[in-house]
Amino acid sequence: MTTLFVDVIIPVPIPGYFTYRIPKEWDSLIEIGLRIVVPFGSSKAYTGVIVAVHHTPPKNYQAKYVLEILDEYPLINASQLKLIEWVASYYMCTPGEVFQAALPSGLKISSQSKIQLNPTFEEWEQLTEKENSFCEFLKGKESCTFDEAKLFLEVKSPYHLIKSLVGKSAIIVFDELKDRYSPKVVRKIRLRGDYLSTEAITTLINSLESKPKQLSILLHYLRFIPVLKDASYNEKGLEKKSFTQAELSESSLQSLIKNGVFEIFEQIVSRFAGEDDSFIPRDFKLSDPQNRAFQEILAGFETKDVALLKGVTGSGKTEIFIRLIQEALTNGDQVLYLLPEIALTTQIVIRLKKIFGEQLGIYHSKFSDNERVEVWKSVAEGKYQFIVGVRSSVFLPYKNLGLIIVDEEHEQSFKQADPAPRYHARDVSIVLANMHQAKVLLGSATPSFESYFQAKIGKYALVELNERFGSTQLPEIRLIDTKYAAQAKQMKGGFSTEMIEKLQVNLEAGKQSLLFQNRRGYSPYIQCQLCEWISQCSQCDVSLTYHSKDRELKCHYCGYKEPMPTRCGACGSTQLQTMGYGTEKIEEEIQLHLPDARIGRVDLDTTRSKTAFNQLIHEMQSGNLDVIVGTQMVAKGLDFDGLSFVGIFDADKMINFPDFKAHERAYQLITQVAGRAGRRDQQGEVYIQTNQPAHELFQFILDGNYEGLYELEMVEREGYHYPPFVRLIKLVIKHIDENKVDLAARDLGRALKDKYGPGRILGPEKPLIEKIRNLYAQEILIKLEKGISLSKFKKSLREDLDLAQTWNVFKGVQLVIDVDCN
Ligand SMILES: [Zn+2]
Ligand SMILES: [Zn+2]
Repeated sequence: MTTLFVDVIIPVPIPGYFTYRIPKEWDSLIEIGLRIVVPFGSSKAYTGVIVAVHHTPPKNYQAKYVLEILDEYPLINASQLKLIEWVASYYMCTPGEVFQAALPSGLKISSQSKIQLNPTFEEWEQLTEKENSFCEFLKGKESCTFDEAKLFLEVKSPYHLIKSLVGKSAIIVFDELKDRYSPKVVRKIRLRGDYLSTEAITTLINSLESKPKQLSILLHYLRFIPVLKDASYNEKGLEKKSFTQAELSESSLQSLIKNGVFEIFEQIVSRFAGEDDSFIPRDFKLSDPQNRAFQEILAGFETKDVALLKGVTGSGKTEIFIRLIQEALTNGDQVLYLLPEIALTTQIVIRLKKIFGEQLGIYHSKFSDNERVEVWKSVAEGKYQFIVGVRSSVFLPYKNLGLIIVDEEHEQSFKQADPAPRYHARDVSIVLANMHQAKVLLGSATPSFESYFQAKIGKYALVELNERFGSTQLPEIRLIDTKYAAQAKQMKGGFSTEMIEKLQVNLEAGKQSLLFQNRRGYSPYIQCQLCEWISQCSQCDVSLTYHSKDRELKCHYCGYKEPMPTRCGACGSTQLQTMGYGTEKIEEEIQLHLPDARIGRVDLDTTRSKTAFNQLIHEMQSGNLDVIVGTQMVAKGLDFDGLSFVGIFDADKMINFPDFKAHERAYQLITQVAGRAGRRDQQGEVYIQTNQPAHELFQFILDGNYEGLYELEMVEREGYHYPPFVRLIKLVIKHIDENKVDLAARDLGRALKDKYGPGRILGPEKPLIEKIRNLYAQEILIKLEKGISLSKFKKSLREDLDLAQTWNVFKGVQLVIDVDCN
């Protein structure tokens, strides 16, 4: 019998696969898609996945033995492996990097992993003796390293034990870089086992007749948890706060617990359950326009794999999605619903959860690893037929996807910026759908021009929904010329008097307002009034933002912070002034103008925890806030019935941003934010402050003329060779030494220009921010016209880059490849 070898993807950035040999006794256990633990380097070990089984030893190295087999059946299926390979090849990165992004940490235990006890674990009786002693060991610590675990357990390879404990939810495995996990826990009450028969409950009720308070607690429980009908309901229990909310006696409840009638237990709950009690009808009716769009999508799917639904804000795209999802599920298909960032769109998740219940799994990068492992397994086992998730959910183990919906498809956050794989989840989802012969529906009020282009040339089906639901009109938008206002002395700080008056009127009418300033902090920089010195980050080529709450200067790129200086860093004068506007300053000024208004702020600083965000949204919904000040976080999918006015600051910055997509993005963002105003029978109003009201972009925005802007942009992009007429690949060269970056970039640029022609190679050029975290950068942009074979070009480019990295000037230089960087 000859030795078996396996090719394995391991989560490290090496090109291709690594080959290992299988100990004879495991020959019959080996299968493609199984996870195994393999040694790497002198002392490391990783979880990898088998992609091929064969008898050929590797040519250039001695294959090491596989250390452990973690699975009995493949946890990663063939189409997932195919997708990983596709992403690696398309985005010019390694399968290991894709594997790293695709699997939650809990599924790829490595010698680098950290381990903590799951704080809510209770089922100690499930553990073996050894597992139990390891958990006891963990109890006293925040976490332990893999090596510490090895040492404590006195074994060479603790993988099996750790895997088993992850499976029992007793421990949590995480990567060092990620935050530790803190679950959301509720306290619940349930009957003790002795009281689960009809006789026992009847006896209990009789015995409590003299204690009416305790009796009413028992009856309250039985009303919500009908154990008499089915004893298994008791398992779930009733939230403790249900009793308090019903104003039942706390001390009587305690006596019932003390007397052994009830027991108290804790349960981890989904962060999306029960946060919103609004009534959501399951069997709503589509309006006529919605129904027409629905039928058009179905018709489009007859001949095309992708449909684009362009529906104005408030047109009720969600109802159409729900119908399509229901249909797919009825056909026995799996459905994936991709959203940009779920934390920001809880309203829709709550709604979907209420409609689809147990079939629906949520996959979010902010969830704990155990939760993500759980979702992974539930998808593999077919428990979840419907996944709502962020971009990495394209990598889940689907078996029979029938439909993928990409909501807000124009959102930039679908593209991963860092680290590799720098993939675009929308584009990957189209490839994924293709593997499953599934359909893709892209949805947006303001589609990305590249998707709209595909629809216009007939590659995608195009469905438009131009009427808002009910009789609501689109908001009325008005421009305020801040240059003129300043001359006429009609500016008070960052506010025009018109804006202030409008806010006052709105407040007096009991209506809500939203102020959009796409910049957090108090002011983007501070400046010396004598010598014009500006506070700069020492590690990055950016100014430091002043945050008034902490009285600190912070770098938004590297996280560096320092206390607000009292003196100028150059001349020593004390005349330092905050310059420009961030959300904190807008909040402060509006409070001065409207002293009675209740104001909330939504930006990265106020919403670090997910509950904080939900809390603010809840306050706004229940009318406890009059004004909300926010960054683009508020532009996405939030609907407030009482919101009738939107004020937009700093529109000029968006318009003048040096990027070929600046106008498209400004149009999208302003239209999305403006769309928050007005609902039902009330037309909303939007004021935009700008010092260039004559800019052509505003005319398109005022008229809601997406089509017009699109046509104009297409002419320009075709003329100047930008997407969708060409494809862009960006090469970024980075090093701590500016000189070295310049030389390496210059030589690489020259070589590429010689080979591919100067028309296709632009740069090298300094990026907008030259230095981040002490690394200087230069960029080379590659433009590939249509008709060139992308895969051939990438192969050739890969060879060029591999060669370049052997040059002397490239020693120690970082090279980043970003495919479809637009
Ligand atoms: Zn910095
Ligand atoms: Zn100075």
